[in-house]
Amino acid sequence: MQKKYVRAMFPGSFDPITNGHLDVIGRGRLLFDELIIAVGKSPIKNALFAPEERVEMIKEILADTPRVQVETFDGLMVDFARRKKADVILRGIRSLTDFQYEFSLAMTNRAVAGIDTVFIMASAEYGFTSSTLIREVASLGGDVSNLIPKIVYHRLMERFAKLKKNS
Ligand code: ADP
Repeated sequence: MQKKYVRAMFPGSFDPITNGHLDVIGRGRLLFDELIIAVGKSPIKNALFAPEERVEMIKEILADTPRVQVETFDGLMVDFARRKKADVILRGIRSLTDFQYEFSLAMTNRAVAGIDTVFIMASAEYGFTSSTLIREVASLGGDVSNLIPKIVYHRLMERFAKLKKNS
């Protein structure tokens, strides 16, 4: 029997993308034939980059990575998954708190759209990395350079310099 072609979708806010996300993408793409990174457009608390800017950074970082696409989406992630003909949703888990939330989300998505979620455990080195904390620490002048790609670091520094100048 021939193995089915599997297209996965990795949804998130990615504001901004971190080495933790990249670790999930790097390991996830080995499990699937195709991976769509879906950047949510819905407003998030203390957002820093516009969805289009987040996509631009991710595309630049993954320019040489085959079988990966980057897109924005509005509304329900399962509707977008259906439109893109994704077979599964990919998510990362860092902690028990993540697990609790992800468990309910996965059950709901299965109940409403019949789509399964595949989880990848965070690597020990990035288990504590979150976009929210990176935004907070960087806004207070902390050094987050080893937790995010170089491109993101430069964009982050630029953005905070601009915000400081305008305040
Ligand atoms: P966050 O603001 O929590 O970083 P996202 O919405 O961008 O959130 O996250 C998208 C997905 O990536 C979620 O499944 C989240 O659990 C996962 N994720 C985020 N950071 C990491 C990490 N450091 N390691 C593993 N998975 C992660």
